[in-house]
Amino acid sequence: MTFVPTKAKWTKPLKGSGRVLKDPEGYRMKLKKKKEDTHYYVCSESVRLRCPFSLVLRIEDEMILKTMNDHNHDNDLLKQEVKKIVSEKVAIAVENNVSPRAALSDISNKVLSDNGDSSGLAYLPKQASFARMINLMKADKLNAPPVSKSGMKWKCPIVLSSPLTISPF
Ligand SMILES: [Zn+2]
Repeated sequence: MTFVPTKAKWTKPLKGSGRVLKDPEGYRMKLKKKKEDTHYYVCSESVRLRCPFSLVLRIEDEMILKTMNDHNHDNDLLKQEVKKIVSEKVAIAVENNVSPRAALSDISNKVLSDNGDSSGLAYLPKQASFARMINLMKADKLNAPPVSKSGMKWKCPIVLSSPLTISPF
């Protein structure tokens, strides 16, 4: 749920300079109409996805006075940004043997500071599945066959010893 009025937040545009209005949930908005003391914004996906969400911004104090309708889509851009942060931090955690809990809190902090608000936290992985993912990758790293010094000591994978792979000739 969105509580308005609320102070407007801004982010950088994908290209060029200036600033882009974010709605209270972190979606990017597009200026549609200017009145004397208020501006009317629609969702940046209003055309591509026919998203019906819109809002009214008061210029004087940059307050979002009201929002209309709901977004009919995920915040894909934010989701991608969070995904990128997660994969970077996971690699670091596995490399340095950081605990899943510490890694996840590191990720939350990065998402918060990059984004300037908590809207990105909705796209963080769940703690249990995140821990499983990190532990699996750590195990993988430990179990990876080392460069062989004394020939093949590890067990031959089943597929190689299967009769199906033996040539008939
Ligand atoms: Zn939308």
